Amino acid sequence: MRILLVEDDPMIGKVVRQGLAAAGFAVDWATDGRAAELALGNGVYDLAVLDLGLPKKDGMALLHALRAGGSAMPVIVATARDAVPDRIAGLEAGADDYVIKPFDLDELVARVRALLRRHAGSGSPVLACGPLALDPARKIVTLDGAAVALSAREFAVLEVLMQRPGEVLSREALEEKVYGWGEEVGSNAVEVHLHHLRRKLGAGRIVNVRGVGYRVSED
Ligand code: CA
Repeated sequence: MRILLVEDDPMIGKVVRQGLAAAGFAVDWATDGRAAELALGNGVYDLAVLDLGLPKKDGMALLHALRAGGSAMPVIVATARDAVPDRIAGLEAGADDYVIKPFDLDELVARVRALLRRHAGSGSPVLACGPLALDPARKIVTLDGAAVALSAREFAVLEVLMQRPGEVLSREALEEKVYGWGEEVGSNAVEVHLHHLRRKLGAGRIVNVRGVGYRVSED
């Protein structure tokens, strides 16, 4: 899952980026409103964590433009402005949740996961496809109830597939969800992860639709 972090404070940005990455998300960090606007234009993000006080373009203006453009991407507003009117304005402008600085990283990660679940239309924290279950918070995958050991990237690829059961995703689409800016992606990195996943879970669990991409089997 790929997150856009919009934060101009270098200390806070660094800590939050590390925290979200440690929780298994691909994180891109925009340090001003204009960079955030450009990044949001490509539509690859599953969620944004948005500071309101930003150089070049205010967070509230970004949020208004995003919603006016029809995007339903979940947004968590993170702001030092703890005044109630600001929080209300953020929610009215289309934020889905908010955190007040200084906020606890674990709480932010929990809120991110809760929002992603809600957005996917699932109240359950565990994703399930037939005998396969994936718990994003506990980082556990089970097949027929038995734990399967996966690398962080294998887990991330599987999570993206299991968020969209039955949907065929191209290699490029998977790459976009699993890698952030500036991360070195080998030309066949995603294919290698898929190869390992199919070996560990059984080739039938992840179906290769030739020339199109991959989907997780729902049987
Ligand atoms: Ca700021």
